[in-house]
Amino acid sequence: MAGSIESNNRFIGIDVGGTKILGVVVDPATGQIAARRKAPTPKADPTAVGPAIAAVVEELIEAEGRPTAVGVGVPGLVDHQGVLHYGPNVPGVLKLDIAGDLHRALGIPVVADNDAANAALAEHRLGAARGTMHAVIVTQGTGIGGAIIVGGRLLRGANGFAGEPGHMLIDRSGHQCACGRFGCWESVSSGAGLANLSREVIAEGRGARILELAGGDAAHIRGEHVSAALAEGDTDAEEILNRFATWVAQGLGSLINLLDPEIIVLGGGLTAINRHFLGDVRERVTAAVLGGEHRPEVPVVPAQLGEEAGAIGGAINARDLFVGGGSPRG
Ligand SMILES: [Zn+2]
Repeated sequence: MAGSIESNNRFIGIDVGGTKILGVVVDPATGQIAARRKAPTPKADPTAVGPAIAAVVEELIEAEGRPTAVGVGVPGLVDHQGVLHYGPNVPGVLKLDIAGDLHRALGIPVVADNDAANAALAEHRLGAARGTMHAVIVTQGTGIGGAIIVGGRLLRGANGFAGEPGHMLIDRSGHQCACGRFGCWESVSSGAGLANLSREVIAEGRGARILELAGGDAAHIRGEHVSAALAEGDTDAEEILNRFATWVAQGLGSLINLLDPEIIVLGGGLTAINRHFLGDVRERVTAAVLGGEHRPEVPVVPAQLGEEAGAIGGAINARDLFVGGGSPRG
């Protein structure tokens, strides 16, 4: 496959996560990937994040040649100029001019956007939301990312910060969120949310197997411990998933009330356990929507592009901005 993309269709997409930077050389029209590179996201030194992204781009250029443009996605508030203002999963990185710095370093057009916005672009053009005009894409990983397609265009908002459903307030007396506030949707409907709900169940004197899988320390519980217990048929894990599905449905119901989408796509790192809770979520969404019995059901479907969606979407974003051919920037 290497080298099989014509140079005028060759774009680089970069997805910066809390733990790794994933880069691809891809044809944004088809999603065909010619090369991939990964590097860890620098944790200790915020000033190392920009150069680490540049290093991944340089490796991809070495492998496949210069692209037409580069599109980067980062988890946080990214403005219309491609400046990352704040991201809870990239602590210490503030006012980083991702697009500008990379453009100056490489001499190639660069656009930077929110990572979930890029993943949504990919799902909208090539994946589960293809052909829709009104869609909500929710990515459930350690936290929750999201993006909203309205009238076929990505909703970006006044500053570029639109589409953060994870920080909708859903329970003011609830768990603390990564953003510091209490009761955000993310605190009960992400990987961190699964851990919070597990600790609730443990505080009620249950969840022994999950606690054991986490090495006996409730502070170390992660989503995969719940998954592992589920695979063993642990009924306490089923109870956690039951609560989880209810919270996920509550948030989706609010999004439907606000946006009236045709479809909701769930992606991100929790996709693997989607099959355990998606049925229950669908069942409960109707009850969480205004007049749920009297309106068309909104399909809630898994994402199709997997963990490369964000990187592919970065390339789509770059092509839209620098070449055209996609939907205009909203
Ligand atoms: Zn929050």
